[in-house]
This record gives sequence, structure tokens and C-alpha cells, in this order.
Amino acid sequence: ELFLARIEAHNPELNAFITVDREKSLAQADAADNLLATGGAGPLTGIPVAQKDIFCAKGWLTTCGSKMLANFVAPYDAHVVERMNAAGIVNLGKTNMDEFAMGSSNETSYFGKVKNPWDRAAVPGGSSGGSAAAVAARLAPAATGTDTGGSIRQPAALCGITGIKPTYGVVSRYGMIAFASSLDQGGPMAKSAEDCALLLNVMAGFDPRDSTSLDRPAEDYTRLLEQPLVGLRIGLPKEYFAEGLAPDVAAAVEAAIAEYKKLGAEVVEVSLPNTRLSIPVYYVLAPAEASSNLARYDGVRYGYRAPAYDDLMDMYKKTRAQGFGSEVKRRILIGTYVLSAGYYDAYYLKAQKLRRLIAQDFSEAFQRCDVIMGPTSPTPAFDLGEKADDPVAMYLSDIYTIAVNLAGLPGMSIPVGFGSKGRPVGLQIIGNYFSEAKMLNVAHQYQ
Ligand code: GLN
Repeated sequence: ELFLARIEAHNPELNAFITVDREKSLAQADAADNLLATGGAGPLTGIPVAQKDIFCAKGWLTTCGSKMLANFVAPYDAHVVERMNAAGIVNLGKTNMDEFAMGSSNETSYFGKVKNPWDRAAVPGGSSGGSAAAVAARLAPAATGTDTGGSIRQPAALCGITGIKPTYGVVSRYGMIAFASSLDQGGPMAKSAEDCALLLNVMAGFDPRDSTSLDRPAEDYTRLLEQPLVGLRIGLPKEYFAEGLAPDVAAAVEAAIAEYKKLGAEVVEVSLPNTRLSIPVYYVLAPAEASSNLARYDGVRYGYRAPAYDDLMDMYKKTRAQGFGSEVKRRILIGTYVLSAGYYDAYYLKAQKLRRLIAQDFSEAFQRCDVIMGPTSPTPAFDLGEKADDPVAMYLSDIYTIAVNLAGLPGMSIPVGFGSKGRPVGLQIIGNYFSEAKMLNVAHQYQ
């Protein structure tokens, strides 16, 4: 009731939620009360959590921020939603996002832009901007997000909250609407690393319905939280502290690293020389995968269908022309181009090879350190509209986050202060494969 009232009061201005369904949420809350009364409760039973509108939740409108799915009521639950329901977590509503998770500012949503609660002239980041804004404004204690190139970490940084993208394969993608399947990964966004750990305990787990889900023994992600950091080796990639990094972000990140030294950590310089290739590689591979994944929106089986057309081909064309926004169309065009005969070797295949080199940079760096730290985003939140007409400037927002997805590594962002305009700054913590519990420990000790 408290969070629903806060949503009612503040969502009209922030626009963090696309769907709120009081009755459904309260019915789930009642069921949670019963679980508590009958002794079947877990640590998160009754806790309301907002769902990014990319996760299918049975009976809930699930739009993915697109006109194409503006009328789509999911007939089944995503694996993540299923697990959260079983834990007694209450679905508090569906949060706003960039259309099909393509964007870094939440300005591509068909349902309108989201405002940053810290400064309403600023973007919340994207694509999980609704989730980040909801948690920052305390409209929800926590939310889910997805991260294909930075969409959990960058909005977490811009809104001053904590978010973690797990190792690829830890959280099932079943029922999570696909953008770029070899990069997409769901994860929690919350006030603290501790809350993220509790939520990740519920979200993570093997699922045979996702062919890339990893069958590993269940872990308790809270188990290392209280471990001291004495002797922790922090790698600082020199490429992350070079040209393009705003001075106020650099100052806040350096201050945080000084704190870590006080906690007993040591700092070593590492190099990720192929970082500069990560944006061009990503913008070949992600659109290629997206162009294939988005072929399913043809107006036939579900979602939007153009109201008037001449024949089948005309129906496809009009449905897709009217149903997708311009950023999505740009990605489909790029993706189709790089996959087409005659260009495949020059672009797609080349990008796959460079992806491997980017991953190898990290393997080498992790021989010399336990975690890598740096800025999450090169600048604090920018103004609404500032980059909306400049896709390349927008793409550069993810310069420090995208390589992590290309390598399949876990990454997180924690708030470490404020930039010159009083807008939050995030520190990125990158770990080796399956080191989420360690990363959450590193984050928790600072918090
Ligand atoms: N901003 C990046 C993009 O637009 C990443 C988005 C994401 O992680 N979903 O593709």
C-alpha cells in the first residue's frame, strides 16, 4: 500500500511505470501474508519489486516500451517472474524502458520519457531507466533490469542506485523479450549490494528452457558480504581513465578508490587495449541479433497489426513501419546490412573475432587483479533531449560497460557521490566469471 501510494503520487511526473495494477499487486500481497502465516515464507516474501516491462508476467501488459507490443498481455511468466512469484515477492508493476531495450536515456520508449528523480531536467539513463528511477525515488524497494550493453549499470549510475549484471547464463532469458540474445542478461537493481544479493538469490538458477542457461549448483550471493577487503587487488584499466572521462566523474571514482585503499585493498594498473573496439563491435553484433529477433513482429501472431492494408506483404510492411520507433528501425537496417551476403565476412565475422580479443583482454587483466574498477558512465546524467538526435553520442554512453557484455562477464555499478550539477556518479566493479558473490562483497564493504 505504501509503495502503491508513492507511485500514485510521483509517477505522473517521473513516468517510471508503464503499468500499475493495484488489485493484482494487492492480491499477491495477500497471498504473501498467507505464506507468512503458514510458515512457508522466504526472506523476500511480501517484498514488492517492480518488473522491467521486458519480462513477461502472466496476465500483465508486457510492452517492452514499444507500440508493437502496446496491447500484448503475456500468456505466461518469464523464468525470473516465476521464481520471484514462488518466493512470495509481490509484482509492484511494470517499469518504463527504451523501446526493445535499445537506448541509454529512456527517451526511445513509446510510453514517453522517464525523468531522473535527482534532477527532473536529466535523463535516468537506459534502457532500464524506469526501474532505476523507481528505486531512486523510493517508488519501489527494488526492481529488475536487463543489460545487453550497460542497461542495468548505466541507469543505476545515473540514478544513484546499485545494480548488477550477472555472468551471462546465470539468469534465464526465458520470457525476457529478446534484443541481442548472446548479450542479454537480467539482474537486480536496488538501494544496496545487500538487497541485490538477496534478489539475485531468487532470480538466478538453471532453466532448461533457455539453451544458454548454466546448470550450476545454487549459490547464496550474500555469503561473502561481511568479508574484509584486506589484500584485495583492484585493477584500474588505464583506458578507462583517459580522454572522454568527465572530470567530476573521475574525481568521484578516484575518491572511492582511495576509500578502498583505506579498507586494505591494493591497486594495480591493468590494460584493456581493445576497449576502443567495443562500441563498433557491439553495434555490428547487437543489431545483427536484433534484426533476427525482431523478425517475429509481423502483425500475424500477436502484437500490433496495421489497421488497413492491401495484401499480406503490405500488411507486414505497414505493421513494421507503424509499430517500430526510429531507433529500432535503425538497428534492424544495420543488422540486416551486416548479415547480408557479401558483407557478412567484412562486418559480422570480423566483429566476432574482435569480440574474442576483447574477452582475452579481460582474462589477461584478471591474472593480476581480483576485480576491475572504473567509471560506469563517462558523464553523470545528461539533459533530456541533449543526445536524442545524435545516435553516436548516445552510443558512447556505454563505452565502459559494453565490453563486459561482449566478454560475458559480470559487472555492477554502485553510487559513489555526485558530479558538478549534483547528479549521481557510479563506480563500476567488474569481476571474473561467476564472481558475483565477491563483487557484492566488495560493493557492500564500501556501502
Ligand atoms: N545502450 C545500449 C544500446 O542501446 C545498451 C542497451 C542495453 O543494455 N539494453 O544498445
